[in-house]
Amino acid sequence: MTKRTLIVGNWKMHLNTSQASLLLHRLQERIRISRDIEVVLAPSMLVLQPLSLQIDRRKFRLASQNAFHKDDGAYTGEVSFTMLRDLVHYAIIGHSERRIYFGEDHSMIRDKVAACVRNEITPILCVGETQTERRQGETRQVLHDQIATALHNLTAKEVENICIAYEPVWAISTFGGILAKPDEAEKEMKFIRDQVRRLFGEKAAKRVRVLYGGSVDDQIVRGYLEIEDCDGVLVGGASINYHKFSGIVDAAYSLQREKEA
Ligand code: PEP
Repeated sequence: MTKRTLIVGNWKMHLNTSQASLLLHRLQERIRISRDIEVVLAPSMLVLQPLSLQIDRRKFRLASQNAFHKDDGAYTGEVSFTMLRDLVHYAIIGHSERRIYFGEDHSMIRDKVAACVRNEITPILCVGETQTERRQGETRQVLHDQIATALHNLTAKEVENICIAYEPVWAISTFGGILAKPDEAEKEMKFIRDQVRRLFGEKAAKRVRVLYGGSVDDQIVRGYLEIEDCDGVLVGGASINYHKFSGIVDAAYSLQREKEA
């Protein structure tokens, strides 16, 4: 089974409704339908509903950047995955900004992953070490702990369908944006797949999609997409720039065409 290359744009807390609608309109004109490439947009919660009415579903899918793990109840200010299930295919879970700014810990992330799966939303689980953890040689331990706890409640079959994004915190534009070279990223992405193999078996390891994220733009994306273990990219800052994001999708097309030739 060949996997579609996944390009995910995390718009973070940028773009109000009309700005988001305009960006979608422009991307929609430029980006072609492809059976090999899946383009996913993660706008703010507020904008999901209007974009869902505007979006060309042959070209794009929507993701939420977060939600609450309970399906409903007296949780003032929260939105549940149950409420989102008809709007989104994916949800970004455990992003480092949520871990660091909002104190999301292993158990919250585990509950959110489980809530996604229960509501038939594919989690894009973000994992990655901080600069300090990296300097202290703890990268592998951090990745192992993040993966093992987040996937704790899932079956091997459920793990087959999820995505894991390797996002070294030090490489994310918000936290410094030091570029992780593709060969550095490759080692950790392989380690992530190996962890899935160890915990859930060969089939889950083969099918799980492993993405890379950290200051990716149109100029450097190719280096990551060429990694054997890389099934796509999670893009933050560059995803709200029309030229950069469409350039990233173009790079994925060109690589696909070269592979087919
Ligand atoms: C992200 O938000 O997941 C991300 C990778 O951000 P950036 O591309 O801006 O580093």
